[in-house]
Amino acid sequence: MSNGRAVGSWRFTSKPRAIRGVQSAYAGLRNQPRSARTQGTVASISRGSLSYADLGPPTETVQFRAPRSLPLDSLELLPRVDWAAGMRDAWTPGEAAGLARAREFARGSLDAYPHARDRPAQSGVSRLSPHLHFGELSPRQAWYAATSQDPSAAEVFQRELGWREFAHHLLVHFPQTPTEPLRPRFRDFAWADSPGALRAWQRGQTGYPLVDAGMRQLWRTGWMHNRVRMIVASFLVKDLLLPWQQGAAWFWDTLVDADLANNTLNWQWSAGCGADAAPFFRIFNPVTQGKKFDPEGDYVRQLVPELRGLPPRWIHEPWHAPPEILARAGVSLGVTYPEPIVDHSWARRRALDAFARI
Ligand SMILES: Cc1cc2nc3c(=O)[nH]c(=O)nc-3n(C[C@H](O)[C@H](O)[C@H](O)COP(=O)(O)OP(=O)(O)OC[C@H]3O[C@@H](n4cnc5c(N)ncnc54)[C@H](O)[C@@H]3O)c2cc1C
Repeated sequence: MSNGRAVGSWRFTSKPRAIRGVQSAYAGLRNQPRSARTQGTVASISRGSLSYADLGPPTETVQFRAPRSLPLDSLELLPRVDWAAGMRDAWTPGEAAGLARAREFARGSLDAYPHARDRPAQSGVSRLSPHLHFGELSPRQAWYAATSQDPSAAEVFQRELGWREFAHHLLVHFPQTPTEPLRPRFRDFAWADSPGALRAWQRGQTGYPLVDAGMRQLWRTGWMHNRVRMIVASFLVKDLLLPWQQGAAWFWDTLVDADLANNTLNWQWSAGCGADAAPFFRIFNPVTQGKKFDPEGDYVRQLVPELRGLPPRWIHEPWHAPPEILARAGVSLGVTYPEPIVDHSWARRRALDAFARI
């Protein structure tokens, strides 16, 4: 090569003094002019050869002046309501926080995990899901953090990690399942269409305290306890007969651990159309689930403050509470807290009929 410099198929020739204010930025242009007139001198640029060393230092610097612009804050790009406040309080993102959480869980909660994992009012689960989803913690690290403690309790926890693996394998082999039921016969299922009911469910205003507590926990913290996820999912799909895809989409938008594989597997499970489907006749009763897994009503009380004054006997079914108990607790159904949007016994029969027809 001569003493010229090639940029792609282009070479530059010119006399040093002929280039004033013409910077090497031209080198990036594909359709360069054969000559460029700058400040009265002609810089001829052609397919010849030119070394930048020949040019010497530029005699003039082209100053870039940014256009006048508004201060960033004046654009008001951040939402006025701080939607993320609850999430910030609940989570510390990052690898160090994920590892610390895994160790703390193994030391403090793993032994009780087999029974405490079904109690949403207790801190009996690991809350590692967002760290696992974002790869801040690997399943292997979580697995081995657990094996160092009680082996039988570790096994129950490791089984849950197994569900995660299964979900990811399913997604690889059936990539259509985030929107399509795995079992094709569910494709034509006659789902209801009720934007009002969907909205009540999303906002935690169904009138079923455990369902509402779960949906509000999700909105506030970006996470919901697994037992309650199963209950709210069953409520959407079976009690309201709304498509599981609408529930999955809302979870996708609001969960900090939103994970395409886990979300898909679990929603398909809830709707009964997945690989390990819950039989369609398994319909969670939100009242009996509440009495069993939140017997004192502490979970509901934390998240549904309107019902805080109700005693445990009535907190999961305020519509059955005697008027004087409601009055003492400051609860006025239909005013301070909604009436149930659907009667569970009636909805259960409707769902069984609909599912039996597919
Ligand atoms: C309708 C529905 C939707 C769900 N959507 C998601 C989702 O988007 N992302 C998500 O990570 N999990 C999802 N899950 C599964 C489960 O609820 C969460 O993984 C769990 O609640 C996270 O809390 P944790 O880390 O304390 O769980 P732990 O009980 O401590 O379990 C440890 C880990 O095991 C895995 N795991 C536990 N249960 C399941 C399960 N049923 N399926 C797959 N993996 C599991 C998770 O990675 C979890 O972090 C969903 C469950 C339901 C019923």
